[in-house]
Amino acid sequence: MASSSFISLLTSKLSSKSKVLGDPTSPDFVASMARWSNLGVKTPFAIVQPATGEDVIKTVREALNAGVPFVPASGGHSPWSTIGKEGIVVDLALYKGVEVYPQRRLATVKGGTLMKDLQSVLHPHKQFTAVGNGSTVGVIPYYLGGGINTPFIGFACKNIVSAKFINAQGELIDVSETENPELLWGIRGAGQFLGLVTELTIKTYPYSILGNDNGQRMCGTYIFLPTQLDAVCSALRKIAESSQYVSSGHCMIVQAPPDMKQQVLLVAPQIFCSAEEAAVFFQPLIEIGPVQQALVPSTFEKHSDHLDWICAEGDFKRFNQIGLPSWSTENFKRLAELHAELIASCPDAVRTGYTLEWHTPCKAERQMKSSFGHENVDCWLNLLSWYTDAANHELVRSMDQKAQAAMRAGTQQDDFISYTNTTREDPLEYRYKEADRIEGLKKLKKEFDPTGVFTKELL
Ligand SMILES: Cc1cc2nc3c(=O)[nH]c(=O)nc-3n(C[C@H](O)[C@H](O)[C@H](O)COP(=O)(O)OP(=O)(O)OC[C@H]3O[C@@H](n4cnc5c(N)ncnc54)[C@H](O)[C@@H]3O)c2cc1C
Repeated sequence: MASSSFISLLTSKLSSKSKVLGDPTSPDFVASMARWSNLGVKTPFAIVQPATGEDVIKTVREALNAGVPFVPASGGHSPWSTIGKEGIVVDLALYKGVEVYPQRRLATVKGGTLMKDLQSVLHPHKQFTAVGNGSTVGVIPYYLGGGINTPFIGFACKNIVSAKFINAQGELIDVSETENPELLWGIRGAGQFLGLVTELTIKTYPYSILGNDNGQRMCGTYIFLPTQLDAVCSALRKIAESSQYVSSGHCMIVQAPPDMKQQVLLVAPQIFCSAEEAAVFFQPLIEIGPVQQALVPSTFEKHSDHLDWICAEGDFKRFNQIGLPSWSTENFKRLAELHAELIASCPDAVRTGYTLEWHTPCKAERQMKSSFGHENVDCWLNLLSWYTDAANHELVRSMDQKAQAAMRAGTQQDDFISYTNTTREDPLEYRYKEADRIEGLKKLKKEFDPTGVFTKELL
């Protein structure tokens, strides 16, 4: 079917609040194409913005009938929600919303709901759930692909209770412990490879679990010079390995603003306790003599406000996260050298940050009925490469690879862990541990998406 006929057909089928955008110069089309990263972005022949769950189903069915390839998009932070002129993007931006069931400790999240939307709606109920470090990241994809990690309640996918799921035949399927339980297992870690999830119901938790009544945690910012790296690593180890308090945080290798000329270590620990207790707990960092420091409270509602700068749209960005069974100071030193090497060879990559992220072991039960399978991973390497010159694609990519290799030095290949929400290049064996898990996922793929309508992954 010609693209113009498909656009007319779809326009006639969808409710009046939906939009079918076929003009790449129209403001709505341009706004939808504005993404977190311009790396690998393709332009479809149309962008469909369904306004209701029924419209999402109709869109998928009409695309399947007409043989038009499509990709769903929620927050647009991945490189996989764009498609070329042969297909359409099903942009869920108009179909969003959160319903909270405070008594049952559940929330239902629709379509393109973003992380900040979820936080803001839960906050008045004094409840929280797993959220990522990015206010504009799409909630559903974050949950489907794992969702790193909340020390009190574990990975996001573990907290999925039920879903409404469209399969490759365009059928809407209810998924829960009682309806299609194998599929529930599958979408808890690999949902984006199996179908389109229009709604997700997730567990919520009272703020009282966090030890206070307003969802508060203490957030530190400690900035060090590279010459202090040994001492910082030793202090970090004490903090991350302590069972005294629940903590998590980042140790970022970045260039310091405003002139971006100096590499620094920005340690941003978060802890659930009073300001006085936090100041004592972070003493090992303070004793090193940070060049700048701050300790401020933050609430769940404002969970990632301090990281809004990494959510900026545009430029070229790669984001890669790998799990680390352990880390060494020597490896981290090498990471700092590689970061410096990157900035020296690509000055336009000056906003790149290589980060070690830790979480104290989760308080909740580790047993996870999910296909994700990384429930014991508490330490992650986050590589955010951010640059502007298209001539540097290959160089930045190769430095990203070197950075991964540096932090994996000393780890057996069988223990390599990659995060499927940020890489699809690495082998399935790194992303889903154990042969049984991969077999289980392949079986589900054959059942729900045998021809690869929703990516060719797992086929
Ligand atoms: C700045 C930033 C911060 C991040 N922070 C964290 C973090 O703290 N923890 C963490 O775990 N991850 C984090 N991530 C990774 C993030 O979880 C993934 O990139 C996530 O997939 C992005 O979702 P999105 O909706 O924004 O992206 P999109 O590109 O819109 O979607 C991602 C994938 O899901 C598919 N998809 C979209 N909607 C649906 C749907 N409804 N049903 C099925 N498939 C769908 C898309 O086709 C695409 O393949 C971060 C990423 C960035 C860029």
